[in-house]
Amino acid sequence: MFTISKEIVFEGPGVHTGTTTRLHLYPSGEGKILLNSVDSPSPPFSLADCEFEARGGTVLKKNGFSLRTVEHLLATLAALKITSLLIVGEGSEVPILDGSARHFVEKLIAERSPIFKREKTYKIVKPLEIQETLAWVKAEPAENWEIEYGIDYDHPLIGEQILEIRVTEEVFIEQVAPARTFGFLRDVEELRKRGLAKGSSLENTIVLDDAKIVNPPLRFPDEFVRHKILDFIGDLALMAGSWQGRFSAYRAGHSLHQKLVKFLKSHQDCWICD
Ligand SMILES: [Zn+2]
Repeated sequence: MFTISKEIVFEGPGVHTGTTTRLHLYPSGEGKILLNSVDSPSPPFSLADCEFEARGGTVLKKNGFSLRTVEHLLATLAALKITSLLIVGEGSEVPILDGSARHFVEKLIAERSPIFKREKTYKIVKPLEIQETLAWVKAEPAENWEIEYGIDYDHPLIGEQILEIRVTEEVFIEQVAPARTFGFLRDVEELRKRGLAKGSSLENTIVLDDAKIVNPPLRFPDEFVRHKILDFIGDLALMAGSWQGRFSAYRAGHSLHQKLVKFLKSHQDCWICD
């Protein structure tokens, strides 16, 4: 596994809070991802011990600590196997940057440094499935970490998109990390009433009106499903390790991804960890 060779800072507006936040990442030899807030008198705690919930993105929670929109950063750390570091939040949300994981990858890979500890890999040994009315997530045994994701939006520029990838560092960097967050102009007012998307802008979100993309061009013709895969990797990374298994999701989102992770946490007969 890897840590980083020196402090890295990410700074910018949070997509939901709209306020500028700063996140400090420090090298660590502990062999796990530790978190804390800058003003906390308590010692840091491990990602694996955090509670989490879905609120426009993924929110980490622990004893009064709360950090929103962690998914793109956690996906990057898992894909690059940087799983020994201390994250200190100055503010309550991870900066959204350009809406993708591209900046996380660039800065983290430049400072990546090996440590002699083995990374945790969870191997799925028993198939499982969670069904909702129009959506589902599944996990089943496989040789590699694979994800198949399907989306189906009633929008002429999205429609149904299905993509299958093997999660490797190279695939993540080239095919997943650059895919940006997207949103619909018609939803903005409602989201802001609910305290969400206050920091969303044409610089950090692909915005669609009823007929077109307001801020073209796309980075991939199917950038939307690629971003959903980025979010899914980030949510699977809540277990603080990487995976050996085939995951599939259809019309899912953070809430259903997290149901799968909670199910896996409470059904240890579904996986083995080495
Ligand atoms: Zn996302």
